[in-house]
Amino acid sequence: MINFQYVRATDVADAVHRIAADPAAKFIAGGSNLIDLMKYDVERPSRLIDITRLPLKSVEETADGGLRIGALVSNSDLAYHPLIAARYPLLASAILAGASAQLRNMASTGGNLLQRTRCYYFYDTGTPCNKREPGSGCSAIGGINRMHAILGTSEACIATHPSDMCVALAALDATVHVAGPAGPRAIAFAGFHRLPGNTPERDTNLAPNEIVTAVELPAQGFAAHYTYLKIRDRLSYAFALVSVAAALDMRENTIAEARLALGGVAHKPWRDPSAEAMLRGQPAEPMTFVRAADHLLRDAKGFEHNAFKIDLARRAVVRALSQAAAGTPQSQSNKKIR
Ligand SMILES: Cc1cc2nc3c(=O)[nH]c(=O)nc-3n(C[C@H](O)[C@H](O)[C@H](O)COP(=O)(O)OP(=O)(O)OC[C@H]3O[C@@H](n4cnc5c(N)ncnc54)[C@H](O)[C@@H]3O)c2cc1C
Ligand code: SF4
Repeated sequence: MINFQYVRATDVADAVHRIAADPAAKFIAGGSNLIDLMKYDVERPSRLIDITRLPLKSVEETADGGLRIGALVSNSDLAYHPLIAARYPLLASAILAGASAQLRNMASTGGNLLQRTRCYYFYDTGTPCNKREPGSGCSAIGGINRMHAILGTSEACIATHPSDMCVALAALDATVHVAGPAGPRAIAFAGFHRLPGNTPERDTNLAPNEIVTAVELPAQGFAAHYTYLKIRDRLSYAFALVSVAAALDMRENTIAEARLALGGVAHKPWRDPSAEAMLRGQPAEPMTFVRAADHLLRDAKGFEHNAFKIDLARRAVVRALSQAAAGTPQSQSNKKIR
């Protein structure tokens, strides 16, 4: 039994003050990831700072037509919020594709962003893992790596970020609002999560003494033409092998604006503006989608057990874009494109 202290933060300033005073402390929100990691002896916080009573549970409209989502809004409340369901159904679909109803009731928006990888070796303290213990080695390279990354990997780590919600937030160009000892700041979603490089122990660019306070969505929600397609081993309660968030703004059959993000393939939600540029102004037809998919996966590299993901991702992108263009987000496309 490893002892730890438990305190409850009274407001955001108090939470920041407490985390800044104790580098070995951790915030706890829903606890659905952190408690597991403590049970596996992967996380050993000296103190848990309970943030669940902070006033960060609302979804509010912003002056420019977007929405500001408090960091403590639960995944369930967010997915079923009327403004999300009506204006950002891509986000609702992604959230509902994740975990189980019970977990989504506990899981918070901030915690979902900061959940850690599901790499088996990260959870197994009997094996080397650079993310858990920097410099110890990576057991997944040369080990069992079926779930692992095919894009943006490094020689230090090939883990993936497991979130579904974050893939939609990346496609929607969200902004993460945080607060720290120096005050509040905003981080563009693309710059929030990190690639592993030589520092796989760092998942995000959030400083250790900062708290996530909100996630902001811009006005454009792509409610008419979107798809979140999640490919996994079981139809529910499983993490993505590959997932695709596709969002299009259509003018008749021409793509005016496109967003594309992949999950399950990299250390962060994978988005490449040059692949989206290839879709803009083009007719919504199979060859357009195939070209964009090939471009998006051009640098993909497989390992012993996960090379299948490259073709899987390519096909998933084509299918997601086809469904989004047709305005049929939930339907399974039977049309064989390649
Ligand atoms: C069996 C199982 C299946 C799952 N399946 C899926 C799935 O398919 N798809 C998916 O996307 N997710 C899945 N999840 C993950 C789940 O969504 C996350 O565990 C959850 O979102 C984490 O939120 P939480 O509030 O419980 O975080 P916690 O466990 O409380 O915290 C997680 C981390 O975030 C930090 N943190 C929390 N809030 C803040 C904040 N506001 N500011 C700074 N740091 C903060 C904590 O310190 C901790 O390090 C699954 C989880 C389980 C256990
Ligand atoms: S892939 Fe990353 S998390 Fe998994 S064992 Fe290697 S270093 Fe650890």
